[in-house]
Amino acid sequence: MIQPRAGVAFSLAAAGDLRNDRAARAQFSAELGIPTAWATVRQVHGSHVVEASGAGDLGEADALFTLRPMLPVAVFTADCAGVVLGADNGVGIAHAGWRGAVGGVVSRLIAAMTDAGAVPRWAAIGPFISPCCFEVGPDVAGLFGDHVATTSWGTVSVDLGRSLQGQLEGLEAWQSGLCTFHDGSSFSHRRDATPARMAAVAWLPA
Ligand SMILES: [Zn+2]
Repeated sequence: MIQPRAGVAFSLAAAGDLRNDRAARAQFSAELGIPTAWATVRQVHGSHVVEASGAGDLGEADALFTLRPMLPVAVFTADCAGVVLGADNGVGIAHAGWRGAVGGVVSRLIAAMTDAGAVPRWAAIGPFISPCCFEVGPDVAGLFGDHVATTSWGTVSVDLGRSLQGQLEGLEAWQSGLCTFHDGSSFSHRRDATPARMAAVAWLPA
């Protein structure tokens, strides 16, 4: 796992499929000292945000936040990015692939948290398919403006990390630097068509 600071953790493939494997999720939670019951959403590559007041499935959305201490909020990824936003009195998390980035899911999460009185002070972005490997067609590249890049094999890609950083209104985000596609420690849907997912989980410490 990667734990860049208190209240946020990103799992790697070695932790198992934390979306579907309850025993793996319990083990991961125990290692972190957090409850096994997480607040989650049914991710649809959109930009809807919900507030969590308890654990469980909160319906279709791609971002969630909570003001409740020790209520873990989580998203599940295998190439998309998990983006964590921390406030003094709350924590939020977003699932962002290229559709989420274009749809402004991180901007919407910042707005929702700010409206709820929890202004984000820090950000952390977990492993995602990086510009070295995130080959896209001209249709997707055209949506990314200045954040078009080149793969390690010379074709057009997009830089999801820079695009998401651009939504952070000046907050400097910690980034893992791991590319899910070419780093063997991660699940990658594009590489393997795997149904397994890593977790990005965040919580407001007690
Ligand atoms: Zn790569």
